[in-house]
Amino acid sequence: MKNDFNMCPMCASKKIECRENKKWVCPDCGFDLYCNVASAVGALIYDDEKNVLFEVRAKDPAKGRLAIPGGFVNFDERAEEAVIRECREEIGVEVQNPEFLCTYPNTYLYKNIEYKTCDIFFTVKLKGSMSDFIKKLSAEKSEVVSFECHKVTCNSDIERLPLAFESTVNTLKKWIGVEG
Ligand SMILES: [Zn+2]
Repeated sequence: MKNDFNMCPMCASKKIECRENKKWVCPDCGFDLYCNVASAVGALIYDDEKNVLFEVRAKDPAKGRLAIPGGFVNFDERAEEAVIRECREEIGVEVQNPEFLCTYPNTYLYKNIEYKTCDIFFTVKLKGSMSDFIKKLSAEKSEVVSFECHKVTCNSDIERLPLAFESTVNTLKKWIGVEG
C-alpha cells in the first residue's frame, strides 16, 4: 500500500504494518484500520449531438486537465443524490434525471495520499443544446477554471482529449458503445 504510517495512531508502536494491501495492523495494541475504497460519482452531461460537458480542473490532481462534474459521496448519502449535489456545487445547475451508466475504479492522489475509489457514473441528457446549457453554468472557482464541450462519438475523439482520470476514459468508451 502506498499510504504508510510510521507509527500506530493508538499506541505509537513502530511495529504497525500493512497487511493484504488493504489494512494496517498493530501487533502491540491490536489496532486494525481498513483502507476501504471510497465512492465517488461523475455526471456525463450530453446533448442530442453527442456534445459532452467537461471542466478544466483548477487544482491537483491533474490540474488543467479535463474532467466531468463529480466528486466524493458524503457519509450517509445516496449516489443518486451525490451526483446532483456535485453538479449543483461545481456547475451551479440542478441536473434532471441522472441515469446510472456504469462504474470504474480510479486512483486519486491528493496531498501525497492515494485514495482508491469506485467511481459511479450517471448520464444526464439535455433537452436543449449544450451551447445553451453552458451559458447557464457558474463554475465553482476552487474546483473549475472553465467549461468546454467536446463531441464524443468514437475512440479517437476520446483519445485526443487531455482527460484527468482513467475512469472517465473508460466510461466515455463504454458510453459510445452503449449509445453508438
Ligand atoms: Zn498500537
